[in-house]
Amino acid sequence: MPENVVILGGGIAGLTTAYALAKRGILARIIEARHHLGGLVASGHVGGIQLDLGAESFALRSSVICELCDELGLPYRTPAGQSWVWNDGIATPIAHGLWGIPSSWDDHAFQVLTDDELEIAHRDRALGPRVGSDSTTLAELVRVRLGQAVLEKMVEPVAGGVHTASPDDLDLDTVCPGLRDAIQREGSLISAVHSIRGNSAPVLAQPVGGMSQLVRALIERLKRFGTQIDTGLIVTDIAREGSEFEILVAESDGNRSNPKPVPGTEEILNADRVIMALSGSSALPLLNKFPEINFEWEAPQGAAITTASLILNNSLLDEAPRGSGLLVKPGSAMRAKALTHYSIKWPWAYETLSKIHGPSTHVVRVSYGRPDEPVQIPSPSDVLSDASRLLSIELSRTDLLDCRIIHWGPSLSPHSPEHRNHLESLKREIALIPGLDVTGAWIAGTGLGAVIPHAYEIGENLE
Ligand SMILES: Cc1cc2nc3c(=O)[nH]c(=O)nc-3n(C[C@H](O)[C@H](O)[C@H](O)COP(=O)(O)OP(=O)(O)OC[C@H]3O[C@@H](n4cnc5c(N)ncnc54)[C@H](O)[C@@H]3O)c2cc1C
Repeated sequence: MPENVVILGGGIAGLTTAYALAKRGILARIIEARHHLGGLVASGHVGGIQLDLGAESFALRSSVICELCDELGLPYRTPAGQSWVWNDGIATPIAHGLWGIPSSWDDHAFQVLTDDELEIAHRDRALGPRVGSDSTTLAELVRVRLGQAVLEKMVEPVAGGVHTASPDDLDLDTVCPGLRDAIQREGSLISAVHSIRGNSAPVLAQPVGGMSQLVRALIERLKRFGTQIDTGLIVTDIAREGSEFEILVAESDGNRSNPKPVPGTEEILNADRVIMALSGSSALPLLNKFPEINFEWEAPQGAAITTASLILNNSLLDEAPRGSGLLVKPGSAMRAKALTHYSIKWPWAYETLSKIHGPSTHVVRVSYGRPDEPVQIPSPSDVLSDASRLLSIELSRTDLLDCRIIHWGPSLSPHSPEHRNHLESLKREIALIPGLDVTGAWIAGTGLGAVIPHAYEIGENLE
């Protein structure tokens, strides 16, 4: 049984690994730079309720998160309301399927195509399994099987919006695991997506009360197990001396967005086993300190993201004019990239808010930041005006009860084919260092559906 295990990073990856270990009777020590845990699964008080500010849902592609929620006593729900793609004032339904690729030829999302574009897409049925089998990116596959129009009008708004990267930069096997094999089996892309997704099975879910309930429940359970959690400690250096790791840590200056070490507060921690569950920008410089590891590349940086959460009181919002929300087609005359009508998508939020502020109180989240666009930090008035246009209703300053704007910077690493190759050689080098494991979104894949199962598996299998 491993002893003296230290987990670097108390985001969802670090907490999940710690929990899987604790269940086996292995009590790790978590070191987290910030004074709060959960990393990008962040929450805060807005409009008098605890609201997700970062991640708000998980993909149902693996059963691990559902099982984790069940174990922790967290009920979860799939989203209410249809979601849309918005293109200069015209909204069309988002395909039910995978990253905007429909799982059926009857999907309403095809209505965005012209007759000629639809005819090109229909060729997928007759192309056979080999066409696109050598594609490395999501864009290549969609372009060659369904045509450029499907890529631009249906896939790019969804995949590009969620990954904050162009589909030309998204590694096919990382963002669509199993799809390549399914095409070989099914003979067409649409049938392959159908075999993975089914016709109408939901693809997302959220614990009732928000994604941050998972963080809260994990922390509570870890404390009950007796796992030591140290917040406000930044890891600044690491080395392996004999069979032990020496980890240099320093107190954090308390800065919420970019904590820095306070000089003169350094101390050395020793560990037999280290699990790095840091962001890529923190993990890579530390990994490069090991003589066995040698690389010169940097993790690719996604677009700088800004999110604005608005608490609004306006009865026109009760009609859910754009269902659970929309993704904006790149190239539209609109600076926002997405809008989530959170209180429609997740009804607990509406119920909780209406108890405090009365009926017709809603949460609307507007997101900004696309690759290769200058960083935009909108004002509350900008956000209100963007939300009004996207929802096609007039929202005014008097409707606005509260607003929280957060600039996340380039927080997500797009998983490009180049990054995937880099990771493959890095993983071989990491395997040369006994006692070291690495997890987190930059290595596991963006999104909780990839991050949590990866982190859990490390905790379950650590020897
Ligand atoms: C606005 C936004 C919305 C999102 N929405 C969704 C969504 O709806 N669904 C979804 O699946 N995904 C979503 N994501 C992505 C998802 O949140 C991340 O993939 C996931 O939370 C990453 O978890 P992690 O533990 O790997 O990394 P992080 O959350 O980045 O955790 C790393 C932790 O390490 C700590 N750390 C860093 N450096 C050091 C150091 N030197 N010493 C000590 N500690 C350190 C950090 O403070 C942090 O707590 C969203 C992301 C953002 C930014």
